[in-house]
Amino acid sequence: MTGDGTRCVHAGAGDERPGSPTVAPPVLATQFHLGGEHFYGRAANPTWEALESAIGDLDGGHCVVYASGMAATSSLLRTILGAGDTVLLPADGYYLTRAYVRDHLGALNLTVREVPTSAEWTPELVEGARLVLVETPSNPGLDVCDIAEVARLAHAAGALVAVDNTTATPLGQRPLELGADITFASDTKALSGHSDVVLGHISTADPDLATRLRAERTASGAVPGPFEVWLAHRGLGTLDLRLSRQADNAAALYQALRGHPRVRGLRWPGAAADPAHPIAKHQMRRFGGVVTFELESAAAADEFVAKAKLVAAATSFGGLHSTADRRAQWGDPVPEGLLRFSCGCEDAADLIADVLAALR
Ligand SMILES: *Cc1c(COP(=O)(O)O)cnc(C)c1O
Repeated sequence: MTGDGTRCVHAGAGDERPGSPTVAPPVLATQFHLGGEHFYGRAANPTWEALESAIGDLDGGHCVVYASGMAATSSLLRTILGAGDTVLLPADGYYLTRAYVRDHLGALNLTVREVPTSAEWTPELVEGARLVLVETPSNPGLDVCDIAEVARLAHAAGALVAVDNTTATPLGQRPLELGADITFASDTKALSGHSDVVLGHISTADPDLATRLRAERTASGAVPGPFEVWLAHRGLGTLDLRLSRQADNAAALYQALRGHPRVRGLRWPGAAADPAHPIAKHQMRRFGGVVTFELESAAAADEFVAKAKLVAAATSFGGLHSTADRRAQWGDPVPEGLLRFSCGCEDAADLIADVLAALR
């Protein structure tokens, strides 16, 4: 297998015949002349297929792209869960996943078990479940769970395992190889990486499940715009480069903040001292650029972000620009002063100097 850089650049490559464009243009058509593979833009589109081929290759499965990360999550839940099923959700994961199940799937009368990512995973925890959904590293706390072990326990109980792989990306972690049935993500974040699209995907090694997901996507209409998909494919080409720089910056930031008198609760799974590191090192191929830490209060965290010149207050992460988000403002069950800090692709020296100045 070629290296990550090569795979990202060539993933989903189109027509390579002489005279064809190096980058296939986006196909924005609504309808197609009947008789070929495509007939209507809600059911299929060549630009989707190029990105699905690219991400599917990186994930090691069949990929289905969606209009957003939540479109992917909700489609997954609607496709897999039936009335009366039991589902495990991460207590410390992306808040809308829990909210969607609570507020919009009530008619299914599901039994929901909210499990912290760093829980002791036991047969009792997964007993009777139809679906075990985990998020590792979790957002925003950056705890991890052992995907292979969760898959072993869940499969013994007859459950499917789905991993929200947003924070790691397919270069950071390949859940399907570790035994998960499904990997899915918000590609709004690092995979696209330029803070200019909202997008999501699901990949699975099971071709029948991929077919069911595609049918559900066509019927529910949770389809992405071809131009967004094209932009994401363009962003994906530099994923290896961006993640390398972001991880270097995260390592430098961790070093600079460690022992800083104003900083508590510093987390980065890539750091040897981090509680998540032993499992992360075992199952992740790289650690990404997201670091979490706490300042003394909400006001202190807001003031820090306002003072930092290179750090924008923004509620997304994984992009070229460094950003920070005070998660309690969105209702995450975390301390008021907790910041999820997403290292961008600036130079480490500039970023660290800016952060330390803003903490002064
Ligand atoms: C952002 C995010 C989502 C939701 O994705 P959207 O593209 O915003 O719909 C889901 N899971 C995680 C971990 C996220 O960070």
